[in-house]
Amino acid sequence: MKPSGPIPPDFVRRDGALMIGGRSADAWVDIAGDTPLFVYDSAIVRDRVARFRAAFPGVSLHYAVKANPHPPLVRAIGSLVDGIDVASEGEARIALDAGVDARHISFAGPGKRDRELAMAIEAGITLNLESAGEADRALAIGRGIGRTPRLAVRVNPDFELKGSGMKMGGGAKPFGIDADQAAAVVGRIVTGGGDYRGLHIFAGSQALDPQALIEAQASALRLAARISSESRIAPPGVNLGGGFGIPYFANDLPLDERMVGDALSAALVLRDPILGDTEFTIELGRWLVGEAGVYLTRIVDRKMSHGETFLVVDGGLHHQLAASGNFGTVVRRNYPISLTNIRDMTKVEDVSVVGCLCTPIDRLGDHVGLPEAAVGEVVALFLAGAYGASASPQAFLGHPPPREITIDGTGIL
Ligand SMILES: *Cc1c(COP(=O)(O)O)cnc(C)c1O
Repeated sequence: MKPSGPIPPDFVRRDGALMIGGRSADAWVDIAGDTPLFVYDSAIVRDRVARFRAAFPGVSLHYAVKANPHPPLVRAIGSLVDGIDVASEGEARIALDAGVDARHISFAGPGKRDRELAMAIEAGITLNLESAGEADRALAIGRGIGRTPRLAVRVNPDFELKGSGMKMGGGAKPFGIDADQAAAVVGRIVTGGGDYRGLHIFAGSQALDPQALIEAQASALRLAARISSESRIAPPGVNLGGGFGIPYFANDLPLDERMVGDALSAALVLRDPILGDTEFTIELGRWLVGEAGVYLTRIVDRKMSHGETFLVVDGGLHHQLAASGNFGTVVRRNYPISLTNIRDMTKVEDVSVVGCLCTPIDRLGDHVGLPEAAVGEVVALFLAGAYGASASPQAFLGHPPPREITIDGTGIL
């Protein structure tokens, strides 16, 4: 048997039944009509926002829609956070449709096409510029349509977020403008008639070590001060990035966000005077929504092969690629996994939970310990709230898309 990750403490059982919000997981399947089903509990997201507010007083919080663009979830989050970060025209439309004020939406991401720049400038969305060329195109488009573009500079930092699952800064990167060229682009925005909004410094993702985040935020503050002194322009805002991780695997410990918040508060007190009036933002995706989601998939077949037991389910990597270990991970490890109903904990068996796709990589649980389960029972995969349905190859093999619901208490939003 191999270990699987820790089930978030937000989930409890009542008489063996897994509860999500105020109902059992099986009740949500009945309400939604079928499996496979993603359930996102907005109460858990609210709790994470409250934890952020307590740990980071005076710092703005943005939600990175990339983590989960389910419109009812974005609507729920939109009213709790100070802004939304998007990375495409499609995500921008989701944020606008959710009722988020365009002035609180920022748009980062390489390869923005002219029509995307025009749409953002027209709407009043802030563009986080990824290159000097993009700055020139945005300024020209703004002049062409008679609108002043709101422009920030995304910096490719000259440091990295240590221990992060996905590095997005340090060295040659497709993201942002190299730190030593950033001041020149800031100057170009101002002389070119743009509305300069500030700097965006994102160094990486999925960090659980508070010390690594503390160092990255301190480095981001120093870099923002250096670029601003070089350009002699005080930034209205500095986005310090995010990268807060969640514990996916056995032996992962949850991030101590208060430790990070205390250190940032101390660093902000001592910040360079050029950042005196700057508004600071942290942008988070998975830390806000990852633990709020559960993927529910029903056992279709149970079989033995060479002494191994396989539970074959109606879902798979086409909905929850990350749990199969094929979304940016080097070594495949088990996400937290369980059954929606546990009657007898004494009969735990070693099983592999595999999806319905005809490929050997469709494995959602590898030699996990589950109570004896029969065809028709439902498997719950946790940590499915971020990079699940929208980050998986849904068209692969032609199965139907998953159902998705965002809930609050006992109702669907
Ligand atoms: C992906 C991304 C995020 C969100 O990362 P999480 O790990 O989900 O918090 C935030 N900002 C930028 C620029 C990103 O590319």
